[in-house]
Amino acid sequence: MIKVNDNFRKLSASYLFSEVARKIASFKSDNGNCNVIRMDIGDVTIPMLHSVVAAMHEAVDELALSTSFRGYGPEQGYPFLRNLIAEHDYAERGLAIDASDIFISDGAKSDLANLGDIYSRDCIVAVMNPSYPVYVDDSVIDGRAGEFVGGRWNRLMYLDCNSYNDFVPDLPKQKADIIFLCFPNNPTGEGITKTALSKWVEYARENGSVIIYDSAYEAFVREHDIVRSVYEIDGADEVAIEVRSFSKTAGFTGVRCGYTVVPHKLKGRFADGSVVDLNSLWNRRQTTMFNGASYISQKGAAAIYTPAGKKDVKAATDYYIRNARIIKESLQKIGFCAYGGVNSPYVWASPGDGRNSWEIFESLLQKYHFSSTPGSGFGQNGEGFVRLTGFNSLENTQNAMQMMINA
Ligand code: PLP
Repeated sequence: MIKVNDNFRKLSASYLFSEVARKIASFKSDNGNCNVIRMDIGDVTIPMLHSVVAAMHEAVDELALSTSFRGYGPEQGYPFLRNLIAEHDYAERGLAIDASDIFISDGAKSDLANLGDIYSRDCIVAVMNPSYPVYVDDSVIDGRAGEFVGGRWNRLMYLDCNSYNDFVPDLPKQKADIIFLCFPNNPTGEGITKTALSKWVEYARENGSVIIYDSAYEAFVREHDIVRSVYEIDGADEVAIEVRSFSKTAGFTGVRCGYTVVPHKLKGRFADGSVVDLNSLWNRRQTTMFNGASYISQKGAAAIYTPAGKKDVKAATDYYIRNARIIKESLQKIGFCAYGGVNSPYVWASPGDGRNSWEIFESLLQKYHFSSTPGSGFGQNGEGFVRLTGFNSLENTQNAMQMMINA
């Protein structure tokens, strides 16, 4: 038998979401199959935007004709989409990102993992705590996390976030090579200001680090001082890779499309000290291991840059933010501390009374019949919090919150 990657044994069984589902099912069955409003949803619920659907229909029709059929596309993505992104997501906002810096993918999750192919196994990885669990698990599988001791991986650097630092981590005392930052953040829902992010860019420049900036939720940014792209910070194009997704922006969680920006100015070193362009490494990695995102998805994604598409995206993200705001304000009315929900579909909340995340989850479920996600599932610093999302319908969100306030 072959030897397998032992690191898989180190991964903790991912019981969080299945445990949430199991507890909801058992609560329902003990209570005459009562209705539970799902406020733990991490997926969009609004159907595909009209503008995107029309573009995807057209793409399918093109593929049906011998005159316009397409097979394999460019591994980096079609120029029509790379150009639109460069123009609308960057140039329009005064940011100089070239289309050749942009690589279209089948979503952010795969890129976040695959980027691990281009940096050395020895790199010290820093992750926010709490964070989207993928950064940690990818590092475990790749052998960069070390051993799990006392609730932490001993080779990972944890960037602690809590209310005392507005959920924006302080700079580490030691050197981190790869730094995963995510803003607006999942799970806390908090954004980052230019001033705060500038410090990270400066740190990366001083230490020769690379920031992997996950801005999957940039389309939810509403406040002017909150950063949408890491490249808003001067010099970031020499130290940062930006990973983006159309999933929450435009309902692509099932269709799959996203992109990663690897600027040409970003450099690395081989073991013999010779300097290499990370863009060319990523290009080599992608052309070897990826055959491009589907033409249909890319045509759909292109439609969100039309005037109608932009309107649709704004309306859908506004809808989720409105729900999140209702959740946040309602929780505050019953005495919770609640964060996020302004530039994000997520609300991060704590009663601050010493109860742990699962106890809070249970009490919200038992008393008010709605579900949440226990914050401890996102890292040690999530203990004592729950995450709620604005992805349910407005009606369900209002009903759940009314039930809580009127109780
Ligand atoms: N990054 C963050 C912070 C997320 O919350 C998610 C999805 O929930 C992703 C990336 C993955 O996005 P995609 O659907 O593009 O793989």
